[in-house]
Amino acid sequence: MSAPRARWVIGNWKMNGNRSANAALVKALVAGVSAGGAAHDRRPRVAVCPPVIYAAQVGELIAGTTIRLGAQDVCAHPEGAYTGQISTTMLGEFGVSVVLVGHSERRSMNGERDEDVAAKVRAALGAGLNTVVCVGETLAERDRGEAEHVVGRQIDAVIPALAAHPGGVLIAYEPVWAIGTGRTATVEVAQGMHQFIRERLAAGSAALHATPILYGGSVKAANAAALARAPDIDGALVGGASLVANEFLGIVDAFTPQA
Ligand code: PEP
Repeated sequence: MSAPRARWVIGNWKMNGNRSANAALVKALVAGVSAGGAAHDRRPRVAVCPPVIYAAQVGELIAGTTIRLGAQDVCAHPEGAYTGQISTTMLGEFGVSVVLVGHSERRSMNGERDEDVAAKVRAALGAGLNTVVCVGETLAERDRGEAEHVVGRQIDAVIPALAAHPGGVLIAYEPVWAIGTGRTATVEVAQGMHQFIRERLAAGSAALHATPILYGGSVKAANAAALARAPDIDGALVGGASLVANEFLGIVDAFTPQA
């Protein structure tokens, strides 16, 4: 029998926080994640992605704990004339081990295309980072019946990069219409798309069969348990609720399997 897929709960702080709020939030997360007795060992892997300027601060606050440090984006190039960008090596120097790539806000606000996402994925996986590839359709695309077509295209664009380093790959299915809107996909819709993604990955490369697939889009403590029971949902990528310690810890608990 193959080993169970890893579970992950990852907080995407987006452009939120400041030194004192970060300190208070991380202190509460460290206390919550470190507690839990026997359940502690069954916990999902937990990561937080602060704005990159706070990586050093948050890295120091989580040192020696099981919480991993993530970044919200990375440059595809190793160095050079890329004003405002951050390389994989720079992230590594600050202890970053997880990176989000292709978040819908970067696709829509920064014009990132599938090929840009693929280049970043290649760089991030090549540098040994756990790389969370974000995919998802807009409401208009879903309404036109194109959800699987769009997500399939986004997955296919990164398959060659993923297949080269399958061990570090995570996918986050984040329907754009559910991000920050308070509108979560039903468990049936999310599970259906996760199963579709799993099959698409396996069709692209057998090595990707154990890829964790996270759901993202208005996940809260109150709706996480139902999502966690779906067979192909291996965790959550959490935006707004990751800024509230009890909410985020509640989501971590929901993805902690019962003994
Ligand atoms: C996200 O930005 O990745 C996200 C899922 O945001 P929210 O949880 O706020 O919908």
